[in-house]
Amino acid sequence: MQTSVTPTHCPYCALQCGMNLTPEPAGGVTVVERPDFPVNRGALCGKGRTAPAVLSSHVRLTSPLVRSGGTLVPATWDEALDRIAEGLRRTRTEHGPDACGVFGGGGLTNEKAYTLGKFARIVLGTSQIDYNGRFCMSSAAAGGIKAFGLDRGLPFPLEDIPKTGCVLLVGSNLAETMPPALRYLTELKENGGRLIVVDPRRTRTAEQADLHLAPRPGTDLALALGLLHLIVAEGRTDEAYIRERTSGWEEARAAAMAHWPEYVERITGVSVPELREAVRLFCEPEAAMVLTARGPEQQSKGTDTVSAWINLSLATGRPGRPLSGYGCLTGQGNGQGGREHGQKADQLPGYRKLTDPEARRHVAEVWGVDPDSLPGPGRSAYELLDALGTDIRSLLLMASNPVVSAPRAAHVEERIRSLDFLAVCDVVLSETAELADVVLPVTQWAEETGTTTNLEGRVLLRRRAITPPEGVRSDLHVMHELAARLGVEKGFPTDPEEVFEELRRASAGGPADYSGITYGRLAAENGVFWPCPADSPADGPADVPEGASLGAPHDGPNGEPTDTAVHPGTPRLFLDRFATEDGRARFVPVSHRAIAEEPDDEYPVLLTTGRVVAQYQSGAQTRRVDELNAAAPGPFVELHPRLAERLGAAEGDPVAVVSRRGRAVAPARITNAIRPDTVFMPFHWPGEGRANTLTNPALDPTSRMPEFKACAVRVEAVNAVEAVEA
Ligand code: SF4
Repeated sequence: MQTSVTPTHCPYCALQCGMNLTPEPAGGVTVVERPDFPVNRGALCGKGRTAPAVLSSHVRLTSPLVRSGGTLVPATWDEALDRIAEGLRRTRTEHGPDACGVFGGGGLTNEKAYTLGKFARIVLGTSQIDYNGRFCMSSAAAGGIKAFGLDRGLPFPLEDIPKTGCVLLVGSNLAETMPPALRYLTELKENGGRLIVVDPRRTRTAEQADLHLAPRPGTDLALALGLLHLIVAEGRTDEAYIRERTSGWEEARAAAMAHWPEYVERITGVSVPELREAVRLFCEPEAAMVLTARGPEQQSKGTDTVSAWINLSLATGRPGRPLSGYGCLTGQGNGQGGREHGQKADQLPGYRKLTDPEARRHVAEVWGVDPDSLPGPGRSAYELLDALGTDIRSLLLMASNPVVSAPRAAHVEERIRSLDFLAVCDVVLSETAELADVVLPVTQWAEETGTTTNLEGRVLLRRRAITPPEGVRSDLHVMHELAARLGVEKGFPTDPEEVFEELRRASAGGPADYSGITYGRLAAENGVFWPCPADSPADGPADVPEGASLGAPHDGPNGEPTDTAVHPGTPRLFLDRFATEDGRARFVPVSHRAIAEEPDDEYPVLLTTGRVVAQYQSGAQTRRVDELNAAAPGPFVELHPRLAERLGAAEGDPVAVVSRRGRAVAPARITNAIRPDTVFMPFHWPGEGRANTLTNPALDPTSRMPEFKACAVRVEAVNAVEAVEA
């Protein structure tokens, strides 16, 4: 048993709060504060505080399972791995490599995400790999790349937020999704800064705002255009900045000027005086920030919506200036790193493009394969899930639970059931793992070492604090063993640091350059912001942060020195130039359009979905924690008193929400905090109250992100007999 305190990070969201783990005499660990980590300064939400409960062998898998006679039964590791290798090999032989699918997760460490992408492309030879992070932040990634030439969630550290003049927070409920981050907004206000929150619901975050704008779900593209219209009309644009640091303004300006405030008021429900007040609050301070999250992104026009908010920030001269700019608040623990290193359908490590011949050459050389052998881009996450059982016959799935988290979930569940072969690696028997032919029990955060990249682009070291239970092995071990069984003996190490050393070389020179980051540095510093090239900056070696050591030099797997990094990392991006070819940020002209499924006579209400503070994503882990279940025991339907009255529903009565894709039933939660034309459901639960039974898989044409945030439904009272039967 390890006896010392281990500083590490929470397994859940993208804040990646620092925590110390102390071993308990009877086994397991206790979470204690780690005040030296600057992101959360010791604060944790209930999920982080109770995370060790999921390490308990009472709630997790500790033996491989194989399907026999229709049920999952315990098996040896060799039996289980042989079955997976055989299932994948048979599919590849009978239907070709693209009939093998791979689905990853935004919770995988950088090392695992990197290895999963490599495994798919050089062991299976398939293009069909994507991950659940596609559902999380791909629209902001697409919008960021269009405008700035680079996607990093926040281009500045969180510590800048309290020092700015105004934050315009769009579609984010920090109070529930990452509570320790709310402190940055509190400090902003204490410093005299202003907070504007855009959200259809009056959330606990919106309650903190100086101004809360509550647009109809799916209309914040129009809202942003209306605000930009007013900014132009009131002469509040920063003309010198636009001239010197941007391109494409005239087209974007013309598009915005077509969105008159009165027209925008009709679309959004936000009044013209409210629009004017938002413009005043945002434009008066010298520095201001726009921060977006899932609200604007999870729409079939998510990329355009993000572009509209970026345009607003550019027109007022914010990005690339101190204490100002545009940023996106990533959701999943390693949502940022997960999409930088190759588990996304169109990417190679280092945030390189799979379609770029030079990127293919560089990565193929690191991998020791012919560039021409690398497959091209594959399907996006929902499209991949939709192809299961038809084009894709076998699936290897890690750290994801699409039976609960995917849109149109009943259809996705049916597609998963129709597979020839499904293998799942997870820490618990999730609803998706229950459908598998083989389930492998894998190690998790406190039992293994690896890196993640938080929402600031800060690369962090999670450290092993305890010995995993008997029978549990790491995802890296799984890929090593499967690669060997499928004929690739080398190139899949099980040591995470060895993988990271290869990742450094694969990312070198790419947009997300990690080559100057080492485990030694990460152990000594509170994270390093990418890009961090191994080469010294042009003006000579940078100072190593106070108190930091670069760690003991040692040789990498191929004999190269590993601890020579001197670049300080890049906490703040774009101060001199943007990452576009000409160094200018690009305006993208966009116009309002309707959501994919507007309400009508049959489905007259809008459904929007989201999270609650005591559960995380599909709930696979948090639904196994008693304290969290006591706080958030099940799904609910949040609805306005006027809608409840029309239904004859009282608080706690079961109500049915019906969309074109299915029906979900959950207790009513009646509140004035939601618009009368909208209902809200959290999406953490399976079964009858599964919110994603209802959601619309209509995809954004650029990011391929589904429209989780708005679809047409009708709401019905559930009669007493039906409620009892349910
Ligand atoms: Fe963990 Fe996120 Fe909670 Fe921090 S805010 S403790 S990272 S779940």
